[in-house]
Amino acid sequence: MPAPPELIDAEGRLTPLAIDVLAAITGVSPRLLAEARIRPAAANWLRAPWYLHRRGGGALTVGRTIWFTGNWFAAGGPGARGDGSPLSTWRWLRHLAHEAGHLPQAERHGPRLPGKARYVARFTLQYASRAVRFRRDVHDGTPLEIEADRGRWVLDRLTGAAPVTHPLMAAVLRGDHAAAVAWLHAHQADLRALHAAYPPQRQPARSSGRS
Ligand SMILES: [Zn+2]
Repeated sequence: MPAPPELIDAEGRLTPLAIDVLAAITGVSPRLLAEARIRPAAANWLRAPWYLHRRGGGALTVGRTIWFTGNWFAAGGPGARGDGSPLSTWRWLRHLAHEAGHLPQAERHGPRLPGKARYVARFTLQYASRAVRFRRDVHDGTPLEIEADRGRWVLDRLTGAAPVTHPLMAAVLRGDHAAAVAWLHAHQADLRALHAAYPPQRQPARSSGRS
């Protein structure tokens, strides 16, 4: 089973519907979103500790390519997200909303390989320095991660507790581009307020027990 066709086409490009929804919730430019390519990572490719499968695998954005772990394309098995169900499509959109937030970061570090290498190095350094100090939520706590998580944060608050039946998500699931755009247009003020509230005040970091 491929990625949800409402969101990603056969060549790994975001659909026009996905581009409009992601642009509104992430603030990332439609141009960057249109240039992104979603690819399955080889099973042993993402071995870094932050991709433990307890979180259902993950993804890594390098340059304009968003690599998703194999379970995102699997119809069954642990962490399967490729079963074509509304819930899986929602999880895809939510995770794309996060990964899309890394596209401008990669752009800032340059499209060429040395830039990509610098970006990965910076990400790894932030992750490592954070990991030394905290045992939990290391992936989510770095400045690059907080910046990238805007879209997922906005989407969660926009769609609420029952996202699959939310009107925006229902339009996505029907592949109804016009209805999705109309909903976003009608809720521009809500979107603006959510973007203005991000990043939220974080809880003070819990002591790791050091004196
Ligand atoms: Zn991330």
